[in-house]
Amino acid sequence: MSNVPLFEKEGSVEVFSEMASYDHEMIVHCHDRATGLKAIIAVHNTTLGPAMGGLRMWPYATEGEALTDALRLSRGMTLKNALAGINVGGGKAVIIGNARTDKTEAMLRRFGKFVHNLGGKYYTAEDVGMSEDDMEIIRTETPYVTGISQIRGGSGDPSPVTAYGTYLGMKAAMKKATGSDSLNGKRVLVQGVGHVGGYLVDHLVEEGAKVFIYDIYPQTLEAVSARTGATIISEEEVYTLPVDVYAPCALGGTLNPETIPQLNCMIVCGAANNQLLDEVRDAQDLKDRGILYAPDFMVNAGGIINVSLELEVYHRDLAMRKTERIYETAMKVFDLAGQADITTHEAALKLAEQRIAEIGHNLLYR
Ligand code: NAD
Repeated sequence: MSNVPLFEKEGSVEVFSEMASYDHEMIVHCHDRATGLKAIIAVHNTTLGPAMGGLRMWPYATEGEALTDALRLSRGMTLKNALAGINVGGGKAVIIGNARTDKTEAMLRRFGKFVHNLGGKYYTAEDVGMSEDDMEIIRTETPYVTGISQIRGGSGDPSPVTAYGTYLGMKAAMKKATGSDSLNGKRVLVQGVGHVGGYLVDHLVEEGAKVFIYDIYPQTLEAVSARTGATIISEEEVYTLPVDVYAPCALGGTLNPETIPQLNCMIVCGAANNQLLDEVRDAQDLKDRGILYAPDFMVNAGGIINVSLELEVYHRDLAMRKTERIYETAMKVFDLAGQADITTHEAALKLAEQRIAEIGHNLLYR
């Protein structure tokens, strides 16, 4: 046995108290020295069905950071799935590592075995750092994986559907803010133009919006700009450029006490998960500044709607039709927030929790 520590120690992580704070059902730590796999599977709530949520691979600096991400993301999935009206619970998995340099077939297959051992309690799918090809590798070890290719009977890459739902959520927000849902001529800043951000730019440009983009990978940035004509901006301009809509489509936490005072927009609506660093404080700060925030878990549900259909019968038209309901849900959330004088985040949370409570109550009488 080697004495080399598996992880850099970085303070202690109180797993049970972390779980209790978000009310999680189960956390599984997965380790395999041979493949270098270090993963966390977080199952938040399975009232509505098996936990479902993507797999993210990211070079987290500490174990604590990875755990926090898994906990926050999986809870977000519970709320997202409930609000989207689908019958799956909330879960998420993270692999600690750099997807561009550390990911291997063996590692993904080992991860697949861990998922399989959960016997269908958790279904995985793509998230940041993962592709459809990766899901097919995981599929060699377990059927509890979604987001596989349409040729193999799956639903394919969910990001075009996620982008479509985000676009519709943005139109609903524009309707609430201005009385018209047209994005023609509106200035929209998309931060992160990877899978979802790239497709979102396509919809926006097609409708005649003036789109500004930033991404930390120059190649991605240039490719999206060349394809769509979107204007590349610098990192310094991301939070300050005067725009109608700021669309965070990279990672979470970009709405915080440092960025919110700088924002020069009337709407925040993007696909990134967990945009609010502190969901109570930052949602309130946006409201106080008069910025209409379209809750992330409400507008980015298209991808999970798409993959959840793999548990039934998959059809892209059905996925698109279900995703179109995001517009209506967004209007409901904005109206409830206005009537109750609460943040839009709180309003979305209330509607999601209400569905879980009602269905959970129903289940008692099976
Ligand atoms: P992706 O990895 O394809 O794209 C993310 C992009 O963000 C990359 O191009 C990356 O270079 C860029 N990026 C990272 N940090 C950045 C920063 N600080 N500034 C600017 N750009 C940065 O991932 P994706 O699938 O497009 O997902 C994007 C976001 O949407 C994530 O938060 C993800 O959790 C969320 N989301 C995705 C889906 C989906 O269907 N893929 C569904 C729901 C939510």
